[in-house]
Amino acid sequence: MFDKILIANRGEIACRVIATCRRLGLATVAVYSEPDAAALHVRLADQAVCVGPAAARDSYLRIDAIIEAAQRSGAQAIHPGYGFLSENPLFAERCAAAGLVFIGPSVAAMRAMSSKASAKQIMQRCGVPLLPGYHGEEQDAARLKSEAERIGYPVLIKATAGGGGKGMRVVERAAEFDERLASCQREAAASFNDARVLLEKYLLNPRHIEVQIFGDSLGQVLHLFERDCSAQRRHQKVLEEAPAPHLGELQRERMTRAACDAARAVGYSGAGTVEFLLEPAGGFYFMEMNTRIQVEHPVTEMITGIDLVEWQLRVAAGEALPRRQGEIALSGHAIEIRIYAEIPEAGFLPSSGLLRRFELPPASGALRLETGSEAGDRVGIDYDPMLAKLIVHADTRAEAVAGLRAALAQVRIAGVGNNVMFLRRLAATDTFASGLLDIGFIEREHELVAGSQHPPDAPVLAAAALWIIGQERPAAASVWNSGDGWRLNGHLRRTLEFESGLPGAGPAAGALAVLVEYRPAGLWLGIGEHSGSASLVAEGEDIFHLQYGADGVRLQIEEDAGQLRIVIGDDEFRLRRRDPLRLSGDAYVAEASLMAPMPGRVIAQLVEPGSTVVKGAPLLILEAMKMEHTICAPANGTLRGFRAAVGEQVREGVELIDFEVTTLESPRLESPPP
Ligand code: ADP
Repeated sequence: MFDKILIANRGEIACRVIATCRRLGLATVAVYSEPDAAALHVRLADQAVCVGPAAARDSYLRIDAIIEAAQRSGAQAIHPGYGFLSENPLFAERCAAAGLVFIGPSVAAMRAMSSKASAKQIMQRCGVPLLPGYHGEEQDAARLKSEAERIGYPVLIKATAGGGGKGMRVVERAAEFDERLASCQREAAASFNDARVLLEKYLLNPRHIEVQIFGDSLGQVLHLFERDCSAQRRHQKVLEEAPAPHLGELQRERMTRAACDAARAVGYSGAGTVEFLLEPAGGFYFMEMNTRIQVEHPVTEMITGIDLVEWQLRVAAGEALPRRQGEIALSGHAIEIRIYAEIPEAGFLPSSGLLRRFELPPASGALRLETGSEAGDRVGIDYDPMLAKLIVHADTRAEAVAGLRAALAQVRIAGVGNNVMFLRRLAATDTFASGLLDIGFIEREHELVAGSQHPPDAPVLAAAALWIIGQERPAAASVWNSGDGWRLNGHLRRTLEFESGLPGAGPAAGALAVLVEYRPAGLWLGIGEHSGSASLVAEGEDIFHLQYGADGVRLQIEEDAGQLRIVIGDDEFRLRRRDPLRLSGDAYVAEASLMAPMPGRVIAQLVEPGSTVVKGAPLLILEAMKMEHTICAPANGTLRGFRAAVGEQVREGVELIDFEVTTLESPRLESPPP
């Protein structure tokens, strides 16, 4: 075995690998980029080496700097984690040339599987089932289109070098093919430096089932059962579980055998995952093989009791697999959810900022936490926005679901947009409880993403108004409970206005008004047809009891960058106090949604300046976080001009387009009569 390991990664996976090394008594060396100097993984490691500035290509992807760090620190092996250099055969080769062990499969196996197209050719030869498709070398548009017609629409175009849900386009009909192909090739070239694509029949709502396999250098291959990763948004996983619910023994047998065949076909050693799509009738098809540890490996660890990172280290050191297939048993059920800094309502765009508050429930035998983040961290735009993973384990799936719901209810995050409410809603659905998930499930259940579609109701507005009034007076607690401080001749009256929704997150409702009266007995609020006395009593840092008329409710209120986030049960509402100086709610939305939602580069302008466009028309494509985002017209109007040229880098919040709204339906404010 080695005695010192360098971890060529950051965040939760770096921390997780360090934990196993520590348990085995191995010394660890972290690498880090300048902004990560004080990050958790750096503090946990025995030694740490800075490998460059923030941008991944200047730090975590710098092969030379990482190899030099390993040599200087005396590490014998490099664990690449996932992402970054983990599936880069060139890096594995360079490690070998420098006399370092790359903790992963052979260079040949990585090469064979690094392209989805070549992987398919190998699978075809060894009889692993494939979807109808085209994975040939010829890449001209006419050839690809004729292949698409042969396969039959809908067809999926995939970057052969793709990963992380990037570089994929569904094409429903021939007329869309050329535009989708061009967009896919652009994204593939930008993200993977390789514009090649393959085509596949697009299956409607299959399940994503993957098999964890392990091989050693002595030629043994075994599997550690399967995971179900069907809960996805934008073709990216957010929740994974093991074993796959409702998978019969026979089906498990067939899929795990095919996965082991796939691994043997390339002489695989180390940890790997073979991904399949499974149709309801039982047909399953190879998608790709990932030649590394996966984000979701903890669910497999929880049901098998095996530390996969330890096995990776042992196999890389030349040892035989610690167990035989017959000695691996499956126990209970495990579910993992991924907490991301992202805004579900804005198409799951990554969010950045200062992580002001970051509280996770305490770990236990039934709850495992994986994170590399802490309160006070700055969540930047250079890396994957995953903040943490929660993994629950229980005897039965029903108990695991209950454990997950309870754990999620305890998570508190402020400072950056995050998907916690989305995950809570997801975990609360009957579909999830039933275990009958498929890859289209999240998209079908629209309520999951947007939360309650209904506009903020009277209790929400009442809470928002009382909270604002409380903030105006530092002696807040007493102010909420009584109006004594404002007893005047007659009652002081004012109207507070709010608007709901996130800027840039699509249409927001019009203004919402709360009439406030400061009465001798306390505050009185009029909201639409509701009226009554009202009070807000703090019960915890952000937990309040609202009494409005006869109704009482417990809720959570948080303010972030001028926006109020109010949570009642599983419903989340976002409100912004309406700036009286602004002209209208619609104008506000119009401007907001024409700003860059995140830092990025303009890659296409889609209409001529001076054109009149209808609401929803695509205007500009921004590439951010290596993905394309289309900025659409927020209302009917005229595009006056672009403020950023094609190729230009833009900061978050920069105005991209001069836009004039023509059909401005000015919202009416329904204030109760004085
Ligand atoms: P990546 O490497 O980017 O993760 P994958 O090839 O693993 O890409 O696919 C990611 C997801 O996209 C799958 O889990 C599945 O939900 C969806 N997907 C991929 N191929 C197909 C297909 N042929 N039909 C339907 N959905 C697909």
